[in-house]
Amino acid sequence: MTDTLVEPRLSDPDYHDDNEVAHIVRKEAANAGYIGQQMIEALCGFKWIPNKNPDNLPICRKCVEIFEFMQRSGSN
Ligand SMILES: [Zn+2]
Repeated sequence: MTDTLVEPRLSDPDYHDDNEVAHIVRKEAANAGYIGQQMIEALCGFKWIPNKNPDNLPICRKCVEIFEFMQRSGSN
């Protein structure tokens, strides 16, 4: 099973983009981000500091594509 977790990504102050979506990140990366307040990287390559709670955001399509690909190629 793949260690992934869906995390929200809201617009950052320095990232004026109202295209708010939830990215999928590896669980270990998310944990590290929450603990250390470091940037984490989503499956699609987007990097941000997770500091918002999930809020019914649409999930990043790129992340979903990559996630599904990983599921297919990872399932033995
Ligand atoms: Zn994404």
